[in-house]
Amino acid sequence: MPKAVRSYSSALTQFRRYLLDNDKKPTKVRSMVLEHACQLSQPFTADQLFEACKADMISIGTVYNTLSLLIDAQVIHAIKRQRGKAATEYELITGTANRLQIVCKKCGRKADFTDPVVARMIKEHKYYNFNMLNYSLIVYGECKICRIKTIKRLIPRSRSSIE
Ligand SMILES: [Zn+2]
Repeated sequence: MPKAVRSYSSALTQFRRYLLDNDKKPTKVRSMVLEHACQLSQPFTADQLFEACKADMISIGTVYNTLSLLIDAQVIHAIKRQRGKAATEYELITGTANRLQIVCKKCGRKADFTDPVVARMIKEHKYYNFNMLNYSLIVYGECKICRIKTIKRLIPRSRSSIE
């Protein structure tokens, strides 16, 4: 059995938890889209996922909708478009995947990022008496939305009354 298929049950558990927590229905068709995503070779494009879902008569709208839910649920992440590649690629986040992530300390928004230089630095670092298996690096800060909110709070309201 390919590695990606084995991770389906844990991915489904995480996806269902996300859907229920956000008052969305864990429908059978959403599980089916995830199952197809797990069976594809990683990474894959939205078109490849749609092609795989066609056999089950799943519409392109449902595929895209489910894909964005899977990203919100952090089951799948979008890989930043590489030069020369026409479409965005997606990849299943498994429990042992390496990860670089930014997290807003104010609202908790998260986003994955890729940086080959940082990734190589972590992989090639000499760990003392320690064998690295995988890594997860989280950079904490303030997101753009929270920063704008802070700036708006700091600007006095009296300005509009002058005009
Ligand atoms: Zn924020």
